[in-house]
Amino acid sequence: MPIIQNSVAQQSSSSSSSSYGDFKDISKTIWKNTVTMRENNEFAVFDFLTALDQGDGSYFHPVPSKNPRTGNSFTQQVYCNEKNISLDGRVVEADCDPCHDGVSADKRTTYPRMRYTYWVLHYGTYHLDSNADLQAQKPWTQDWKQVTLGKQTFFRESVLKPQLLVLSQRTWDSVQAIDTRKGTILSTSEVPSHFEFRRSFASNAGSRGMVSYDILASDISVPDLSEEASKIVADLPKLDQIAAGSITELDLPQFGSPSVVKEQKDTADAFERMANIKEDGEF
Ligand SMILES: [Zn+2]
Repeated sequence: MPIIQNSVAQQSSSSSSSSYGDFKDISKTIWKNTVTMRENNEFAVFDFLTALDQGDGSYFHPVPSKNPRTGNSFTQQVYCNEKNISLDGRVVEADCDPCHDGVSADKRTTYPRMRYTYWVLHYGTYHLDSNADLQAQKPWTQDWKQVTLGKQTFFRESVLKPQLLVLSQRTWDSVQAIDTRKGTILSTSEVPSHFEFRRSFASNAGSRGMVSYDILASDISVPDLSEEASKIVADLPKLDQIAAGSITELDLPQFGSPSVVKEQKDTADAFERMANIKEDGEF
């Protein structure tokens, strides 16, 4: 697979690290525009906007880290400056710190692994609890809608905008299997195809278990935003530059323009009906 599609020779060579000290609009950060789930058994509903072979595949070091504010442990994914090479050579010229952390290569647990990044149209995320931020009464805080799917109640956060989806090798393999089976992962007007990105916890006998992410076909009804999405898809920022850290801010369109009240209402109404499950279960 041609992993790094585009030459990035024009980019500056020293801008690979993002500076958290800078004051910036948090809503534009890469993290805020990436599909994430805080709890197990939550899921996001989305369409792929990028074909399988147009996604970015770059190597990242999984570096054990601690959140300085909460003290919680997490795995920081650090772009490998040495292994990520485009047709024009190294994408980022700076030295790769995790590659030279003083641990011999065969003992290193942070050896770089491939992670894949795609543009998706994120319709919304189904949470297990209501929005905790509601307590803060911030004006931009969304009241998530309570919906029932089958035997379970969720709180649905409406997103309706392009977002980044980052996949591990294992999850990507399952997407590749879908692509092979269906011929594409993209949704077309003839064959709409929506997906769910699910977080779950697999407890294996003999091990501690682990959080895993799966991609499943979705039968949840979603608003038709194919026209809006088709207009912006060619102008979305380059995935390889986002992976390399040379793009750190994203200004993405929200579908349902405030100036078009009627359309926005229709979209909201359509989203209300997202809970409709096809009776026949056919796919
Ligand atoms: Zn490295």
